[in-house]
Amino acid sequence: MKKVLAFDVDQTLNIAKTPIPDDIAELLTECLDHFEICPISGQKFDQFLIQIVDRLENATPKQLEHLHLFVAQGTQYYRYDAKKKDWTQVYNYPLTDEQVKKITKAIQTAAEELGYWEADKLQEGDEIIENRLSQVTFSALGQKAGTEAKYAWDPDHKKREAIVKRCKELAPEFDYEIGGTTSINAITPGMNKVFGMTHMMEELKVKKSDILYFGDMTQPGGNDYPVVQMGIDTITVRSHEDTAYALRGILGLIK
Ligand SMILES: [Mg+2]
Repeated sequence: MKKVLAFDVDQTLNIAKTPIPDDIAELLTECLDHFEICPISGQKFDQFLIQIVDRLENATPKQLEHLHLFVAQGTQYYRYDAKKKDWTQVYNYPLTDEQVKKITKAIQTAAEELGYWEADKLQEGDEIIENRLSQVTFSALGQKAGTEAKYAWDPDHKKREAIVKRCKELAPEFDYEIGGTTSINAITPGMNKVFGMTHMMEELKVKKSDILYFGDMTQPGGNDYPVVQMGIDTITVRSHEDTAYALRGILGLIK
């Protein structure tokens, strides 16, 4: 049997950028009794708390010890300390200031050239390019934009593919991955989910074959594709509803 269930977050456990729904929260809590549960996503730590941890209000400290947060594609790792009743950072691999500057400039230039720099659509206090320490993330309409607007912005990925292509010319030393609904994550090569999954195996002392991974962007170029390429067993989902079906099936086999 698998020891680890690992999950992409946006569109796999939730509707992008929103807290996980009730049924996913219940299913994950139940899974904590049987598996190590590892969400891994480009999001920042505070978003992991808002979107996942705060929704697991019925989980006991003992259960939470089996929840492992692989933040910013697993370039940061947080574990629950049941004694302190709080999360502790186990490791962190941040980008340098110089790298952040270069990436930010490349993305903004590319988006402006292509006419996809939507600064006029931003809500107050929001930003298009965000430094997430281990990666720089472009969110075309900002973090706070409505879900519908986000879905409508680039459903066929064509805008983001064009931005990525131009960024590759402007700052080729970085990797650019399409994720979520309006996002591009820029990272140093190798600091993608392969990095996160490799560290996950080290930290949890498990093999590739012990892991089952759920993601919605498993196609080439998608931010879950590196996990597929590693040879980890993967379930491609269209939404959190598919994930819920699969988890009910898995839990049903255990009972
Ligand atoms: Mg996703």
